[in-house]
Amino acid sequence: MDPNLHFETRAICAGQAPDPTTGSTITPIHQTATFTQEIVGSDQRYQYSRGANPTRTALEEALASLESASFGIAFSSGMAAIASVVQLLKTGDNILVADDLYGGSYRLFSEVLPRHGISITYFDGSKVSDLKKRIKKSTKLVWLESPTNPMVRLQDISACSEVTKKRNILTVIDNTFASPYFQRPLELGADVVVHSTTKYISGHSDVIGGAVLTNDEEYANALRTLRTTTGGVPGPWDTWLTLRGLKTLAVRMRAHEENAFAIAEFLENRPEIEKVYFPGLPNFDGHELAKRQMHGFGGIVTVDLKGGERAARDLCENTSLFSLAESLGGVESLIGYPWLMSHAAFSESLKIKKGISKSTVRLSIGLEHAADLCDDLAQAFNSCT
Ligand SMILES: *Cc1c(COP(=O)(O)O)cnc(C)c1O
Repeated sequence: MDPNLHFETRAICAGQAPDPTTGSTITPIHQTATFTQEIVGSDQRYQYSRGANPTRTALEEALASLESASFGIAFSSGMAAIASVVQLLKTGDNILVADDLYGGSYRLFSEVLPRHGISITYFDGSKVSDLKKRIKKSTKLVWLESPTNPMVRLQDISACSEVTKKRNILTVIDNTFASPYFQRPLELGADVVVHSTTKYISGHSDVIGGAVLTNDEEYANALRTLRTTTGGVPGPWDTWLTLRGLKTLAVRMRAHEENAFAIAEFLENRPEIEKVYFPGLPNFDGHELAKRQMHGFGGIVTVDLKGGERAARDLCENTSLFSLAESLGGVESLIGYPWLMSHAAFSESLKIKKGISKSTVRLSIGLEHAADLCDDLAQAFNSCT
């Protein structure tokens, strides 16, 4: 695919040429476990779907193109992708992790990896100096996630990558919250991008999936072999749904952001709200960094309520357009209470350290009309008092 074509065009065309055998304009769902071979010992590309499947290949090529990567490897979930990346390490290795991260990744890092002799060190994601200070001889990987979940904090991807490059440490970033439309970490110096494609990339809350993107061929081959060995592959139907969602990523992200701005401004003016966290707001801590390293601000708005836990839980339970549900990044708006939902795996003290309180509510702004979303929040506030 011509890399000079625009993002919108590549989302629709990359890896998705008409089917050469039938002319099918849309990538077929190759719902097959195996592929018939002409001769014994064939070297044909497709032999068994754990190794490779043409519908999956289409998705991988499209995702790679959108992340400015040469190689894409799709997984059965975001967590399968993340677990595979860290499985390339060995006993004795150390991972340096920006302290604000997805709950599932935290559980993997804190509970599973130490059992295999892989140590984890946390650093203050807002300070490159702290990253430098905490690097050990055994550090093989630096793990970033920006913007973070749910406080949408930012880490300086170029500055962190500059530090790691000099020391031959791999920089991996979970780019789920921004999506490749708003942020392309490989262009900023990161080595590996991981995604939960469950979120913005598939975009319709109807499929679980993950992906890893990189320009490092040796790394891509190692990861592909690991995936074929451990088996965390997505099925053809799921990869097709993800590919279908991906085609509209650009228009969806622009609309998510436009609505997020409207909701963030609406909430800033509500007496029930203590603080609004949205990177697009000029008074937000990471706003300048967001302008520098992102192409937009995303669709997640987090708030702290003045009325504490009662007010936060009431808000979550009294909206009708916003569904009270885990996940984010779909066309429908979702509301969540991180303290007891997405971040239940964190200890109280860790939640507080991350800025999550019992007053915190996370909103994934969907593509409904912004006025209807504001009305829904207003009626929820009114029915709480
Ligand atoms: C959802 C999510 C994951 C995990 O992805 P799954 O597809 O649910 O396995 C990882 N990182 C971030 C930032 C997420 O939001």
